[in-house]
Formats: sequence, C-alpha cells, structure tokens
Amino acid sequence: MVKAIVFSDFDGTITLEDSNDTLSDTFGISKQQRLDLFKEIVNSKGSFRDSFQTMMDNINLPIDQCVDFLVGKINLDPGFKTCLEYCNKNDICVVIISSGMRPIIKALLQHLLGKEEADKLTIVCNETEILNEKTGEWTIKYKNPDSIHGHDKSISIDELKQATELSGYKVDQVNEKPIYFYCGDGVSDVTAAAKCDLLFAREGKDLITFCEKGDIPYHKFQSWADILLGIKDILENGKDVKDLIENQKK
Ligand SMILES: [Mg+2]
Repeated sequence: MVKAIVFSDFDGTITLEDSNDTLSDTFGISKQQRLDLFKEIVNSKGSFRDSFQTMMDNINLPIDQCVDFLVGKINLDPGFKTCLEYCNKNDICVVIISSGMRPIIKALLQHLLGKEEADKLTIVCNETEILNEKTGEWTIKYKNPDSIHGHDKSISIDELKQATELSGYKVDQVNEKPIYFYCGDGVSDVTAAAKCDLLFAREGKDLITFCEKGDIPYHKFQSWADILLGIKDILENGKDVKDLIENQKK
C-alpha cells in the first residue's frame, strides 16, 4: 500500500518558472501591473481568482499557441525527476494540485517528463473553456468558482484524502493512513499545507514569508533534491516530521 502521498503545487514548485506569470508578462498586462495585483492579494485587498481572471482576459492568443510558447520557456526543477523516480519505486504517490489550467500543465509535464510519466499523474486544477471556435477566444473555468482562490486547494486535499486511487496507485487512506507531504511556493498553498503532515516550502518565495508571519511550520527546499532527502529522513532514517520543521518554537 501507499506509504506517503506527496501533494504538490505545479508552477514555481515542480517547475522553476511560473507559466501563467510568464504568459501574462509576455502577452498580457505589464509585469508591473501584475505585481501590483499580487500586492493587493498579499494585503488582502484583492482575490487571486479575480486577479488571475484579469491576467488571462488580457491575453489575446489561442490556448494552443499559449501552450506552444510555454513549452519552450518553462524548466523543470532539477531534482524533480529523481524524486519522482524514487517515489515510483517506493510506493509513494505524487499528486499535483494547481491554481493553473489543465491544458498548460498537461503539455508542460508531457514535454518535461515524457508522455507516459506525465499521463500517470493525477492533476487537480482549473480547466479552460473555448468561447469562440473561430477566434480561439478562451477563458478559465475555475474548479471552485465561489472561492476567492478560484481553486481552493484545501477542499481538493480533503476530497483527495477520500480517494482510493491516485496517480495510478491503489490507496487505502482509511485503514493505513499515509504520511501527507505538501510542496509549494505561494500564498495559495497555505490552506492546503495545513491539511498535511509536513510542508516543504521553496526558499525565497512568498510562502515562506507567509509561514514566518503566521507561525506555520515548514521545511525549506531549494530543489526537489532537498525534498527527496526530507522524505527519506522520515521514511527510511526514522526521523519524525517534527524533526524536520525549521521554525518550530523551542
Ligand atoms: Mg506556485
């Protein structure tokens, strides 16, 4: 049975760059305008859902052309493949939870990992909807349209904890509760992280700032090589989740 489940954000966590920011900065509003929108989110004046909608509404390029552009631009974290291979060999299941959109995530994963590996992974994310076949006009279809996040990752984690099959693995989460890891880099990862046993947070990104402010426990990573070490420490070297938390109160 599955020993652990690694829930992971996609943009900026599995990849080094954020595909939606890259897309918006190239074809949509200016980078400065985007950063202003993000500042409002951090100061609780705006929602991610509405800001993301503004970013995507200003991109006048069919979705398949967006995908083609991004495939040449976005890089995989250098440690991800090795960590995924280790997980595959050791009954650890990796699940992607993203505030991005399926056609982009899917195409990037297929390009970066190969189709077979990519197609095995369970991806929970937003979808896209084509509004006009002729012009290629499209919009985001949010997973949780009523949530200020557009996709509320904590709801998804709760749902996924009921699943009996994930990323091609049979899982028994009732009788043999696996260890839940969460990997992320952004503010939208905070609520999801609270549902897991250990949060891996990317060094130098908003999520760490947020964790420090809110006293949320985390283990810092620079690349997935660090995540792999953390997973091994717990599953092979007898360490406890608490041993890996870097900001716990003494
Ligand atoms: Mg991210």
